Amino acid sequence: MKYRTLGRTGLKISEVSIGTEWLEKKSPELITSVIRKAIENGVNYFDIIFNFEEHLTKVSKAIEGYRDKVVLVHHLGSSEYKGKYKKNRSIKSCTNTFEKYLEIMNTDYVDILHVHFVLGPTNFEEKILKPNGPLDLALKFKAEGKAKFIGISTHSLGVVEAAAKNGNFDVIMYQINLTNNALPNRNEVLALCAQENIGVVAMKPYAGGILFRKNAKVNLGGYRTGGMGLEKKTIPEKVTPTKCLHYILSQVGVTTAVPGVASIEELDATLAYCTATEEEKDYSLILKEFDEYITGECVYCNHCQPCPADIDIGRVFKVFDQAKIELTEEIKAKYNEFEVNASDCTECGECEERCPFDVEVINKMAETVKLFQ
Ligand code: SF4
Ligand code: SF4
Repeated sequence: MKYRTLGRTGLKISEVSIGTEWLEKKSPELITSVIRKAIENGVNYFDIIFNFEEHLTKVSKAIEGYRDKVVLVHHLGSSEYKGKYKKNRSIKSCTNTFEKYLEIMNTDYVDILHVHFVLGPTNFEEKILKPNGPLDLALKFKAEGKAKFIGISTHSLGVVEAAAKNGNFDVIMYQINLTNNALPNRNEVLALCAQENIGVVAMKPYAGGILFRKNAKVNLGGYRTGGMGLEKKTIPEKVTPTKCLHYILSQVGVTTAVPGVASIEELDATLAYCTATEEEKDYSLILKEFDEYITGECVYCNHCQPCPADIDIGRVFKVFDQAKIELTEEIKAKYNEFEVNASDCTECGECEERCPFDVEVINKMAETVKLFQ
């Protein structure tokens, strides 16, 4: 397992995390075996979206004795109503649910307190930021030491942008997967998160499992934009958990991906990423089949390797794309960490022949050299 720093929190998070929502209603034995196996394999971030008492009790049992190895998450606003999930913005309900969560999880604090499932920028402004609203409540819990850091979960890119600019949010949970690669402005907003040193947790990495329905014609609209848009698409055959995860972990600003798993077999399929070969990770041809890419834009897949000059082309361009937003000292330092960089390009052109996305690598390398001069 590799670890990345979750933005300004400084927490070291496993690249592959696990969502527990599909474990709801499973037996305590299964939940314990999945969570323990994940921990043994280095997973340290578990998203816990459902605050059902019975479910939390099972999860709590599973992490018993491992509290110090686990980054614990609570979703403020996810509640239980008559045995079912209900989003609830009432301060009283949020407070009671969170206090109960701490009690069941047998802990005094959570590491990340996410303001749960914010619909859109207007909802964010009016319902979350209002005086004595959910953000103020989260800040109160932070001041009391019951939450180390504040996060927000949303399917809306507009909310990601607004939260990144707000200053109070340390972590943002947002859907990122192959289906929304070409969503307008997505990469710029992710670069903004990186610039603000906000940790990005990528949810829905498998688009709710839809990406594995080989050859099925499915509606991807909701997974692409977070809205209800209709966008029928036939799923290509070769999508695997490893390719999905590698795509996400190659995007600017992303710290970790949180797939939900419902069994040991699904956990194993997800953990296979950690030992996968570069060939198994290569997502370039699948992304092309999704026709979600923008021709000429680098998607950091490194399908163009090997470079005779040993340039890590995908990573160099990832830093370059971040630097185009704002050339900060951190980004300069990141660029200077490369042992060979754009200035070592010999213009041989081999990469351009191999790039499936028609990226003009030689020109882009020249632009990179100019920017970092
Ligand atoms: S230049 Fe092309 S092949 Fe190389 S990393 Fe970028 S998109 Fe992938
Ligand atoms: S053109 Fe430059 S980046 Fe591409 S393979 Fe040749 S040396 Fe590497």
